[in-house]
Amino acid sequence: MDGTIGSKALVKKTELVRVITDTLISLGFNNIATDLENLSGVNLLDPLIKNFLNLAKNKEWNNCIKLLEEEEGLQVRDHNTARFLLLEQNFLNFLKDDNLDEALHTLQEEMTPLGVEESRLVMLSSKLVFQDHSGDDNAEEVVRKLKKVFLPGVIVPEGRLVHLLEESLDLQRSKCGFHNVPDSDLSLCFDHHCAKSKIPSRTVQVLVGHADEVWFLKFSHNGEYLASSSRDKSAIIWETNAEGRFVIKHRLVGHEKPVVIVLWSPDDKQVITCGENEVIKRWDVVSGQCVQTYERVGVGSFSCGWLHDGSGIIGAMADKRIYLWNLDGSEVEHEQGQRAQKISDVVMTSDGKWIVSVGKEQDQISLFDRVTRAETVIQAGNMVTSFCLSSDNKYLLVNLVAEEIHLWDIVGEPGKVGEFIGHKRTRFIIRSCFGGYREKFIASGSEDSKVYIWKTESEMRPCLVLLGHGRAVNCVDWNPTDLHMLASGSDDRTIRVWGLE
Ligand SMILES: [Zn+2]
Repeated sequence: MDGTIGSKALVKKTELVRVITDTLISLGFNNIATDLENLSGVNLLDPLIKNFLNLAKNKEWNNCIKLLEEEEGLQVRDHNTARFLLLEQNFLNFLKDDNLDEALHTLQEEMTPLGVEESRLVMLSSKLVFQDHSGDDNAEEVVRKLKKVFLPGVIVPEGRLVHLLEESLDLQRSKCGFHNVPDSDLSLCFDHHCAKSKIPSRTVQVLVGHADEVWFLKFSHNGEYLASSSRDKSAIIWETNAEGRFVIKHRLVGHEKPVVIVLWSPDDKQVITCGENEVIKRWDVVSGQCVQTYERVGVGSFSCGWLHDGSGIIGAMADKRIYLWNLDGSEVEHEQGQRAQKISDVVMTSDGKWIVSVGKEQDQISLFDRVTRAETVIQAGNMVTSFCLSSDNKYLLVNLVAEEIHLWDIVGEPGKVGEFIGHKRTRFIIRSCFGGYREKFIASGSEDSKVYIWKTESEMRPCLVLLGHGRAVNCVDWNPTDLHMLASGSDDRTIRVWGLE
């Protein structure tokens, strides 16, 4: 069994047999593992080491120590640590038996001179002082620690082959140019590669239902519904039918002004809509009925959001304040520290910790800590027109007047980590979104009737531009449960659903 296998002569045959043997055992095929050892003549463990570990499993600590001292063939890398681990078990046994003299002797005369794990010595000393009899009695745990004292390669780490295979798949995934498939698509049986065609780019459906410009759209969290809002003063809830096509479930009529936003509750059972400088309404998705209206007399609404748990509503209002309401419409508080701007998104992070909104100035983003009531301000460098939070609350995508989209890492001290250009914006609010595999892509509307897609970890230029709409594309949303579905809403009054080629 000497020599290597494979064209690069990197894999030693004996090591391959050993990791296969280890894998067979982990899969429960112990008999086959034994057969493999016998047929190949390659042992997973050197017999001497196997004997040593078996003694440890049986808690024969003194025999272990004896073997450690007598046998050089044990191939121990760290002799003192091995001895320390074994003596520690003796110490604990003496302590358990109230043999304090022997325990003290073991600690002072045998373990201390080894010069390892001082903190452990301190802990054991205090056990002795307080006669704490609780001890590490788990032989499996001791064996696990002992396995680490051997020279590299002497012990096959548990699950080694699977670890190597996972590393290989992980590398293929990270090197994949346009990676956008679920992990279940990765295989040990063939090399992985995603072409650009794994990004949604083909119009699979055009949704016609609005009588005027489509200003906002959002997939439900379960990905089965789409909500859209329009200048035509309505919102529409679209549901997928048996053929996977979106059809109108409800038309939400009641606003007297264009509807600027429609947002799903965390459980997808309700939506809220915001009329432009008007009121905020909450709707039941099953019945399509308005169940509550939120307003301040004489003060219009600019934007709205859900509380993270769906227990209330956030409203950014024309008096430049941000209000929190209970579902029944009673006011909880209003955030004096913040100022809602006329163009103003407002969102609560899914952990309920932060309210993110446009700041006191239009070129700022405010991160307001609800517990400490401290505000972190991001200087966006340009007028903010809209923003979008990643689903893990770690990143913020900020659309600027200057036809740039900036990506901010907002964990800890906020820092800009990406800039994206290429789309057109001169007059309207253009919205962008995260999406695809682990939200590694960004999509944006554009006034040139196109949808732009970038890779977040890539160059500033878009990797894909989608053609189809007849007028400005105001908004996009990526289906959170389908990597291969994107939707866009346009001034051409339609919504396009994009899928794979
Ligand atoms: Zn891929």
